[in-house]
Amino acid sequence: MNLVQNKNGLKYYEFESLHQLGIRHGFYTRLGGVSPEPFASLNMATTVGDSSENVLENLRRMFETQELDLESRYDGWQVHSSTCICVEHPRDVRSRAIRTDGLITSNPEVTLVMRFGDCVPVVLYDPVQRVVGIYHAGWMGTVKKIAKNMVRTMEAVYGCKPGDLYAGIGPSIGPDHFEVREDVSSQFEKVFADDADALIQKQAGRTTIDLWKANQLTLEAAGVKRIDIMEICTVCNRHEWFSHRGDRGRTGRFGAMITLKGS
Ligand SMILES: [Zn+2]
Repeated sequence: MNLVQNKNGLKYYEFESLHQLGIRHGFYTRLGGVSPEPFASLNMATTVGDSSENVLENLRRMFETQELDLESRYDGWQVHSSTCICVEHPRDVRSRAIRTDGLITSNPEVTLVMRFGDCVPVVLYDPVQRVVGIYHAGWMGTVKKIAKNMVRTMEAVYGCKPGDLYAGIGPSIGPDHFEVREDVSSQFEKVFADDADALIQKQAGRTTIDLWKANQLTLEAAGVKRIDIMEICTVCNRHEWFSHRGDRGRTGRFGAMITLKGS
């Protein structure tokens, strides 16, 4: 189940499961920020043409809704890889961000932040070893199985058991809208083999892929049992979400965050 929160003009979504466990997290809609069109208004990326002052104020507003210190943030330079890193202190924002598409921490003083605009955002939580993670999976990260890499890294570094993990798949381009060409669908067919039929729909000359299910299947294969999916399509809901495809490339990126702080 999804929970909708409204605070200070911002609107964000949470998973009821994580909320009940006391985990501060959120997928932030585009509402309540300061950026002008086409980034209106809670844009979290400086790489799309918006000013860094606007983005910083938007970040500040996001952190304010969670009553978190902005200085606790750690964000990466997202490059559609399967790389994930473990971070035990906030990022020094004066230095360049590390290229990574997955962040994991066991430190409650760190808030993990990522940016999205159609790609799949996934948060992870281990209540036993007390570890949280977040990853960014567009179609490339999905076929590279960053989901599996996240779970394996949490096992290897923190001793997590996959069966203890909670996973939440947030808003992204949905199976109704993620239309692909043969060069993309063939990679899914190859990588997901027998499961490919469950992910790929071919109808009337149109091929679509279900990225939510692809990530779910990869997480399940890695041993994760508790997986929630928000089932919110960013293209269908452009009034609330930035959508790279829906807005034809001229748009912002929305923020997602998770932390152990206070849990
Ligand atoms: Zn849609």
